[in-house]
Amino acid sequence: MKPSRNTITVPVYTNRDQIDATFPARWIVCPACDGRATTTRHIECDGGGFTASEWAEACGDDEDFAEDYFSGRYDRECPTCKGRSTIQVIDEEAVTGWRERILLKAYYEQERDSREIDAIQAAERRMGA
Ligand SMILES: [Zn+2]
Repeated sequence: MKPSRNTITVPVYTNRDQIDATFPARWIVCPACDGRATTTRHIECDGGGFTASEWAEACGDDEDFAEDYFSGRYDRECPTCKGRSTIQVIDEEAVTGWRERILLKAYYEQERDSREIDAIQAAERRMGA
């Protein structure tokens, strides 16, 4: 791989087959961990940190837990950036070719569809399906 030009390759599905589309890429600070490269999400219920009652439930009178928590003992490598603190995203502004633009549009539509499917599945799980 040439280091001079960052690219990102993603599968784009057409009606008949799959195309590996390569787009220019840029690095951004990982939005999942804010560039900290670690996460404590696995012990937090909703990934948004503790509420007061969750905190009380999690550690109660256990001061060791609080100490461990704040000292980073529960830190894990961020799964989104894999501890790199930055992630590669498609650099839309550098996508100039008409063919790439069409592929990018198809890719975004595909991503949106899969997010909708995820949301439906998550809703079903909540309903106990
Ligand atoms: Zn991250």
